Amino acid sequence: MRILALLLLALFLASCGSSPRAPGRPTQAGPSPDDPRILRQCLGNLSALGVSYQSLPDRQFPNGCSATGSVKLVAVGIPVTNLGALKCGLALPFSLWVRESVQQAARAWLDGYVTKMESFGTFACRPVNNQAGNRLSEHGRANAVDIAAFQLADGRRITVKEGWNGPDANVRRFLRAIHGSACRRFNVVLGPDANALHHDHLHFDMGRGPYCR
Ligand SMILES: [Zn+2]
Repeated sequence: MRILALLLLALFLASCGSSPRAPGRPTQAGPSPDDPRILRQCLGNLSALGVSYQSLPDRQFPNGCSATGSVKLVAVGIPVTNLGALKCGLALPFSLWVRESVQQAARAWLDGYVTKMESFGTFACRPVNNQAGNRLSEHGRANAVDIAAFQLADGRRITVKEGWNGPDANVRRFLRAIHGSACRRFNVVLGPDANALHHDHLHFDMGRGPYCR
C-alpha cells in the first residue's frame, strides 16, 4: 500500500515537473543540467576527479545562444588547447574521456602517452553545420567540443584529418577506438564518417541523442 502511494506521488511529481518544450529544442533526459542541484553535483564530481576549473557566470545572448552552467577547464590532466565555455554536463564526461579513454587507446594502439590535445573550440554561436536556417548548434549552448589532434610523448602528432583514413593502421585504430569510447560517454559523436564537415575533427555534444557516426 505504502509502495503504491509512493509510486503515485512520484508520478504526480514527475507530471508537475514537465514543461512544454519549444520545437527544435534538444530533449534533455531527466532534469535540466542547469538545475542548481544537478550543477552543484556535477561541479563536485569534477572537483572529486581532481579536475581544475573556473565556474563561469551564466550568459544569454540575444540570438538564442547561451552559456549557462558552464566552466572553463583549467587542468584536466593534460593540456587541451582552445577550450572555452563548456557546460558542466559535458565537461565531466569530456574530462573522463581525456584521462581514461584517450590514454588507454594510446597505450593499446600507439604504445604511447598523449601529452597534449588540440581542440577547435567549444562555444560558438552558429547554426548546425554553419548553415543558415539550421537549428542552433550545441556549440551555441556551450554544449559541444571539437577535437582535432593529439601529441604524444615521443613527439608524434596524430590528427583526425591525416590519420582517420591514413596509411598507419594503428593510428586508424587509435582514432576509431577513441571515437567508439566517446559514443559511450557523449550523446552525440560525429567524425569523418559522418559528413565532409567533420573530416578533420571529432565533434562531441550533450544535445539530443544518442547519435554515433
Ligand atoms: Zn562541433
